[in-house]
Amino acid sequence: MSKSAQGGPPFRDFCLQNKITTRIISYSTISKFSNSYRVYHKTIFMSNHTNKGEEETDRDDFEFLDLTLRPSKWGEYIGQENIKRNLQILLDAAKERNHPPEHLLFYGPPGLGKTTLAHLIAKESNTQMKTTSGPAIERVGDLASILTNLSPGDILFIDEIHRLNKNIEEVLYPAMESRVLDIIIGKGPSARTIQLELPKFTLVGATTRISMLSSPLRSRFSGGVFRLEFYNNDEIIEIIKRSSKILGIQMDDNAAKAIGERSRFTPRTANYLLKRVRDYAQVHKKDLNQKLVEEALELLGVDRMGLNSSDISIIRTIADKFAGGPVGLNTLAASLAEEESTIAEFNEPYLLQIGFIERTPRGRILTHVGYKHLGVESPKKERLF
Ligand code: ADP
Repeated sequence: MSKSAQGGPPFRDFCLQNKITTRIISYSTISKFSNSYRVYHKTIFMSNHTNKGEEETDRDDFEFLDLTLRPSKWGEYIGQENIKRNLQILLDAAKERNHPPEHLLFYGPPGLGKTTLAHLIAKESNTQMKTTSGPAIERVGDLASILTNLSPGDILFIDEIHRLNKNIEEVLYPAMESRVLDIIIGKGPSARTIQLELPKFTLVGATTRISMLSSPLRSRFSGGVFRLEFYNNDEIIEIIKRSSKILGIQMDDNAAKAIGERSRFTPRTANYLLKRVRDYAQVHKKDLNQKLVEEALELLGVDRMGLNSSDISIIRTIADKFAGGPVGLNTLAASLAEEESTIAEFNEPYLLQIGFIERTPRGRILTHVGYKHLGVESPKKERLF
């Protein structure tokens, strides 16, 4: 285990010198027993993996697929041209000033390439990236340990940053602005604050729910707040072709197009479907063509628009139980026995993008295109909204 993985010498020395054993963050608690800290190490370990290129193994999950297919050069990162241009300027300027880039925030639905951008920024800045996530930082002590373990110039990537709790956010503000860590020792009248200096670092945050981020936190991303857009068909097909090359998959253009059409304009989904289709072709000992893609994805429960069973349940519920809406997110979630956040983060962005639902101040409504997809006549009242 690396030095930093043992819990952080600067922070430990500081705790020992100041005999801090009370309410903080007992040092040993952080390093040995905190679950969230373990998650942190796990993710650091993952982020130190390099792109494996053509090396194939039999691990077969989203995470592994992401690592294998993740672009490791700007040239391989397809689309999001405007963001790339802005980042290039920011990174070049920072390099010239010999200063780490300013803090950056990326937002947009999952699988669009936020984490990949953070990796590319670390690579371009020739520095290490340390990765954690909002829910993994449970206590102020977890964040203190992470921050004091950074080396000068490091990129700290916090995924799902909207899930940081308020106390932790407040510790993050001075760390982002002035690179200091304020720690309160003790309780009541004898409590005192100690300030620790932190190395220069760049925080890269990613979120699928920008609206849940407090405005003080949002305003501290001085390098910029960037929204990732869904990809267009050509870009998705390019991504599928790149991935099939890396994975050694042979297929014709129509097969790539058929996968692309069902990919929800999302690279991660495109890669996932590609691999499932490859498995299907392998097991059936057939060539990978359009017909086979259609068969494989039908079996997987993905329809021609890329909708899965949970998307269909959502639009069917709005149609059948709520007469096409409007229906609030919480009512919809309760009636589907689903988490609100799952609907808001995973299903809704794509359903909105393809125009199957609309968001109105009174709730979600199913559009006539959504009705058409269900094969149901749209009631006239829909036109009122
Ligand atoms: P997010 O962090 O937004 O959930 P990721 O950055 O983890 O998304 O991207 C998921 C996967 O999709 C990556 O591992 C990569 O294989 C692929 N990917 C994402 N964006 C791109 C892109 N612009 N070009 C090529 N592949 C991409």
